[in-house]
Amino acid sequence: MEKIANYINGELIAPKSSQYMDDVNPATAEVFAQIPLSNDKDLQYAIDAAEKAFPVWSNLSVKERANYLNKISKLINENLDELAKAESQDTGKPVQLAQTVDIPRASANMEFFAHAITQFSSESHAGINSINYTLRKPLGVVACISPWNLPLYLFTWKIAPALASGNCVIAKPSEITPYTAYLFSKICMEAGLPKGVLNILHGKGPEIGNAIVSHKNIKAVSFTGGTATGKRIAEISAPLFRKLSLELGGKNPALVFTDCDLDKTVDGLVRASFTNQGEICLCASRIYVEKPIYEEFKEKFVQKVRALKVGNPADPSVNMGALVSAQHLNKVKSYISLAKEEGGKLLCGEEAFELIEENKKGYFLRPHVLENLPNTCRTNQEEIFGPVVSLNVFQSEEEALSLANESEYGLASTIWTNDLSKAHRIGEEIKTGIVWINCWMNRDLRTPFGGMKNSGLGREGGLEALKFFTEPKNICIEY
Ligand code: NDP
Repeated sequence: MEKIANYINGELIAPKSSQYMDDVNPATAEVFAQIPLSNDKDLQYAIDAAEKAFPVWSNLSVKERANYLNKISKLINENLDELAKAESQDTGKPVQLAQTVDIPRASANMEFFAHAITQFSSESHAGINSINYTLRKPLGVVACISPWNLPLYLFTWKIAPALASGNCVIAKPSEITPYTAYLFSKICMEAGLPKGVLNILHGKGPEIGNAIVSHKNIKAVSFTGGTATGKRIAEISAPLFRKLSLELGGKNPALVFTDCDLDKTVDGLVRASFTNQGEICLCASRIYVEKPIYEEFKEKFVQKVRALKVGNPADPSVNMGALVSAQHLNKVKSYISLAKEEGGKLLCGEEAFELIEENKKGYFLRPHVLENLPNTCRTNQEEIFGPVVSLNVFQSEEEALSLANESEYGLASTIWTNDLSKAHRIGEEIKTGIVWINCWMNRDLRTPFGGMKNSGLGREGGLEALKFFTEPKNICIEY
């Protein structure tokens, strides 16, 4: 069985512990690779390598660093099919989704920040007989930790700006989906990335992940994952006075008004609810519909959801593959039981469906739609992170806004209306870091990305990311 290797100091190497854990294909429940269980010794080796690489890497011209990122971007494109299959094998997502979204976006992340760093400028403030200018210097060795739902997509979203701005990186993918990060190590080697600039450590979050974020020489942590883990990282980081970027969970509201384009809205919300099996932090999970169109929306929405095909991720006609793990499937199922206890009525989700022989043990679940749940119940308040949405009714714009904002989370929202003034009004008042009007997951990599409240701290994307990974230093000259 193939053994995944850590990528440290420019080389693929086995963990010092010689211990491994299983990498499971969620669509078949079969083990297909072994994942290194890294420890403090691997970490120290990686930090030493990164610290040694930093003075040279940070002093390269932006053009030289951009060239490396562009090479990596190109190699991702050249290996698109292999990477997409690997991503599907690790996550259970449809291969076609990985081919059209995950892997192209990973390549775009590298290319985008290669360009962005060459356009990055800093401020200058002219005073009376004085001038201030601000230098932005890389921080040193930084940590990038990413989750399992969009593995290479989110891994590169952090690594690209960190490297572009001159830092050296210790990165950890999720132990549940490490394989494309391993392939990415090989791509970095092929691109000739200088040794020690990027180091990828595999293993368990509470072990090597915790060790990385606890290491005093790590100057900043860019983390995407659950709110509970984010809180723990914030607690560890506070006494170290280090920079933190936390992209955490969501419980994203969608507001559907009577004056929307109903068919477009239904299509948009089916996509927003169930793309990637509902395992995207941006997925809609609470859909609020204005009373006059509630029944019509419900009928059309449920009909489309019932038509979604769940099954073999390699089949291009499939809309949803397997959930990422047995443990996650059980968690999502437990929320469906809870929803029923809380008075929820299931509108679809329990229909029988066929799986081919090799997928019979896989972690598949049909998309579930519920209604009749109070806004404050756990099903409507806690992140499920799977193919489960609730439909809810509202009677006025004020009520819609108040229901949407009644949440500890504040990541993303969608508003469906043809009334431009209303869209702007709500867009301004809704408490989420990202608002999409009549669309979902329309991403422009230049925009600030992140959440309010328990959905995170700071913003990624464009200049925000380059600012995060650099320290401003102001210099004042009197003349
Ligand atoms: P986790 O918080 O469990 O894990 C995220 C990453 O952190 C993984 O690499 C994990 O490693 C690692 N980790 C776990 N424990 C620690 C620790 N104590 N110290 C350091 N690192 C640790 O989240 P999930 O992987 O379950 O991801 C799902 C969550 O991510 C959802 O809440 C989702 O909303 C959120 N998310 C947010 C996004 C956003 O942009 N706001 C985007 C995508 C997802 P390991 O897996 O090996 O345990």
